[in-house]
Amino acid sequence: METKKFLLNEQQIPTAWYNIVAEMTNKPAPLIHPGTRQPLKPEDLYPLFSRAAADQELNTTDAWIEIPEPVREQYRIWRPTPLVRATALERALDTPAHIYFKNESVSPVGSHKLNSAIAQAYYCKQEGVTNITTETGAGQWGAALSMAAKHFGLELAVYMVKISYEQKPYRRSIMQTYGAEVIASPSMSTKAGRAIITATPNYQGSLGTAISEAVELAMSTPNCKYALGSVLNHVALHQTVIGLEAVQQMEMAGEYPDVVIACFGGGSNFAGLAFPFLRGNLRGKTDTRFIAAEPASCPKLTQGVFEYDYGDEAGYTPLIPMYTLGHNFKPANIHAGGLRYHGGGAIVSQLKHDNLIEAVDIEQLDSFRAANLFARTEGIIPAPESSHAIAAAINEALRCKVAGRGETILFNLSGHGLIDMTAYDRYFAGDLQNYTVSPEEIAENTRKLEKILGN
Ligand SMILES: *Cc1c(COP(=O)(O)O)cnc(C)c1O
Repeated sequence: METKKFLLNEQQIPTAWYNIVAEMTNKPAPLIHPGTRQPLKPEDLYPLFSRAAADQELNTTDAWIEIPEPVREQYRIWRPTPLVRATALERALDTPAHIYFKNESVSPVGSHKLNSAIAQAYYCKQEGVTNITTETGAGQWGAALSMAAKHFGLELAVYMVKISYEQKPYRRSIMQTYGAEVIASPSMSTKAGRAIITATPNYQGSLGTAISEAVELAMSTPNCKYALGSVLNHVALHQTVIGLEAVQQMEMAGEYPDVVIACFGGGSNFAGLAFPFLRGNLRGKTDTRFIAAEPASCPKLTQGVFEYDYGDEAGYTPLIPMYTLGHNFKPANIHAGGLRYHGGGAIVSQLKHDNLIEAVDIEQLDSFRAANLFARTEGIIPAPESSHAIAAAINEALRCKVAGRGETILFNLSGHGLIDMTAYDRYFAGDLQNYTVSPEEIAENTRKLEKILGN
């Protein structure tokens, strides 16, 4: 019988994260300070983030950054995660392709988000911070940071996107179990929240708005820092532990991926799995394709513009050179809450601009169809976000079938869906729909962007 699972031991948890920027020929344009309009310096970020995270954010020279031992110690609760050959899915698709997935759903909070949460909480604690704030969409990041904050003895306030607060009460319970305070966003507790509630009273919230609220609270509270769960370079950096393990595991499997796929919200799990393999391409040793699977209702990589934009609704964050739908874009209320974000991170955006990675749009109904096939073959109920990666992997496997090509496909199972069963219920009831975004709506939002990169 063929080996199904490829497991590493605790000693094989990576000791350094991979900082791909150091090895990119075309590096992303610098982040820009929203006030001075000058390239951002690490000091500019110190009021907001831990110094370590701020330094990592702007580090373009060190390809390897050591993982502190207390962080590795926490990683050992669930890492290394398994690499699994999806043989039952392959049989169901009758494809000659070999399909592998890296199973990040085995973390205590059910997603990859803990990889960065632990690092960010650790650095805050190291630097004497007592309180942290954050936002959360579907609740995955909030859950991860709640666990990490409690471990390192930090108080945490989480702004949770209102639609998820209402649709996904159990994630709120998880955060509260770990001792965090959870506030539905937009809220009346911040200027940014009050402004949007006044303008759009029934607004169901978005990650962009929740970020504005969390940043505002961090800036106005002493000894308080903010932590972000995606988009930024240091978050992508921390997630590379996924791909660094997967490189070792693909070697155990005796194969190398022709295609690497991950779903795409702000880009952190995509970066995490892809960058260590992309390293082979950058060095001219491999010719792997990398596919970011985004929701058709929030198509920043395929239909957005490559330009400087804010990371949040209110425009508090630095200007980031990114593929964006405009920071005021209001995505449809799809169930993959973690993918409802208007832009992609700077590194991933630059890689896309240089055609080093690809992107595809997945319709909501296709993602649920893929999720059900995956659950019924591989036994794991995937998160609605991860289902976008599964749908893209299935499309690639079917392409291989038509072409009669036995390619190796690797995708990231970023999380499980056991706390998202309301979404599955609605799918079974026929209540879910696809959403398309018109070019006019995108143009309406991106037209307001200042032309700095000039695309
Ligand atoms: C947050 C989340 C995502 C999307 O975020 P990225 O930063 O793009 O990875 C994807 N899958 C799951 C399970 C998530 O929780």
